[in-house]
Amino acid sequence: IHMASKKLDIVPLCEWGLFAEPSPSLVAGPCSAESEDQIMETAKGLKELGVNVFRAGIWKPRTHPGCFEGVGAPGLKWLQKVQKEYGLKVATEVANEKHVMECLKHKVDMVWIGARTTANPFLVQEIADALRGTDIPVLVKNPVNPDLDLWIGALERLNRAGIKKLGVIHRGFSTADKIKYRNDPQWQMAIELRSRYPELPFFVDPSHIAGRRELVREVAQRSLDLGFDGLMIESHCNPDAALSDADQQLTPAQLGDMLAHRLKVRNADSDSPQWRENIDQLRAQIDIIDETILSALSARMEVSRQIGQYKKDNNIAILQTSRWDAVLAKVVEKGKEYDLPEKFLTAVFNAIHEASVEAQNEIISGRPSERQ
Ligand code: PEP
Ligand code: MN
Repeated sequence: IHMASKKLDIVPLCEWGLFAEPSPSLVAGPCSAESEDQIMETAKGLKELGVNVFRAGIWKPRTHPGCFEGVGAPGLKWLQKVQKEYGLKVATEVANEKHVMECLKHKVDMVWIGARTTANPFLVQEIADALRGTDIPVLVKNPVNPDLDLWIGALERLNRAGIKKLGVIHRGFSTADKIKYRNDPQWQMAIELRSRYPELPFFVDPSHIAGRRELVREVAQRSLDLGFDGLMIESHCNPDAALSDADQQLTPAQLGDMLAHRLKVRNADSDSPQWRENIDQLRAQIDIIDETILSALSARMEVSRQIGQYKKDNNIAILQTSRWDAVLAKVVEKGKEYDLPEKFLTAVFNAIHEASVEAQNEIISGRPSERQ
């Protein structure tokens, strides 16, 4: 059953007291806090780049026991030193009530919930309860598995506990497929969440999506092109020696170079009359084309119903798989002439076919389909 999305009660990002315009809002810092020197040296480099919030993992969820699991609460003192010496805001990951209590005690400015934790409603609820009555900003990473409802559920738990400075971080999804990146971006998931909750501050974590430092830039650019609000990027004063995620961290200098020269920030909109006129015309064309698509779909559906009736009168089964395979092959072949990708056409036409079969099913069975 698909639950209708309830509205979230959200304080806009510009009112969190952490991020100054202009966008993109920047959260950067090492995967893990490792030592006071590493924290202070990294923070010094990042301060100069206009980073808004300094991140560092204090408690690290690791796949294998015996790996570096974070320095724990003592590391929070180093973050306080970063606040004091460099005037940076600081953030870390919380995965249970104890972490929340330590963060509140040490005046951490923002916390985030990690991907493994978002996937666990018990822990998210425990964190939400521990945060009740505070107004510390919270960012929720997507769960490791591509389940939008699980992600939304976590947001609802926090929001119900009164957390209104609430946002998300897209960090990609675990996958068994061999792909270029460490985590599958599945941008359509992020876009879907964005369109359901346009008011929700939206960060992308290109470091955990990319998994390799040379790919961080292209993922960051993609997020900016899609108009997300901010970036969370891992940066370490000596990435090769990092105790976690060594492959994906950039030095502050590399990050600075990327921000200054290699990323193109797109404007959300423009006041230029020329741009307005052109974009309005193009959008008007899109509206007309969409109407054409709708009326073509409706005409196709009508014919499909007639076929259904005809099949019923002649006592013929609805589904003729070989016929559909032939139709699809023809469409894909034809689509090549129009420069339309096969994957896209297959998805579109399979959806059309599914709706046709349902419509015919209603006619033949004489009752509305049970599917929503
Ligand atoms: C991290 O931010 O270092 C981290 C552990 O990320 P994720 O929860 O996205 O794996
Ligand atoms: Mn990391």
